[in-house]
Amino acid sequence: MSYVSTAPTSDPGCVFCNALSRGDDRAALVLRRGEQAFLILNAFPYASGHLMAATARHGGGLPDATAGELAEVMALVQLGMRTLRAVYRPDGFNVGVNEGRVAGAGVLDHLHVHVVPRWNGDSNFMPVLGDVRVLPEALDVTYDRLSAALDS
Ligand SMILES: [Zn+2]
Repeated sequence: MSYVSTAPTSDPGCVFCNALSRGDDRAALVLRRGEQAFLILNAFPYASGHLMAATARHGGGLPDATAGELAEVMALVQLGMRTLRAVYRPDGFNVGVNEGRVAGAGVLDHLHVHVVPRWNGDSNFMPVLGDVRVLPEALDVTYDRLSAALDS
């Protein structure tokens, strides 16, 4: 008999764990909580509405996620896309995962899928993996718009 995992479930030094334990979802930019995953605005967006669907459990990235976590993360990706489509009317999306620091991941111990809305003419190439940022609206404005749409 063996245990499934000995990985820690939270880390007080982790941005996502801190967001979930902060007690103020608006200040933490947490848009929606599921059972095993959550939807959060990116604090350093590439475009207005840039959000992430992430696992709640502190314990690794995509290779470490359970089937249940994968299903809930993707359901939140879809919910996020539908909400962004309704609020921002983007022409498309970049959806993707950066795995590991070398690949650009800012949070290493939670699977998180980026959802970046795109508009025709916003730029020639979306630097999801780079450092160029498009002028976004204020984060609290984005949060309130998306939060209202999620609740409607
Ligand atoms: Zn964490």
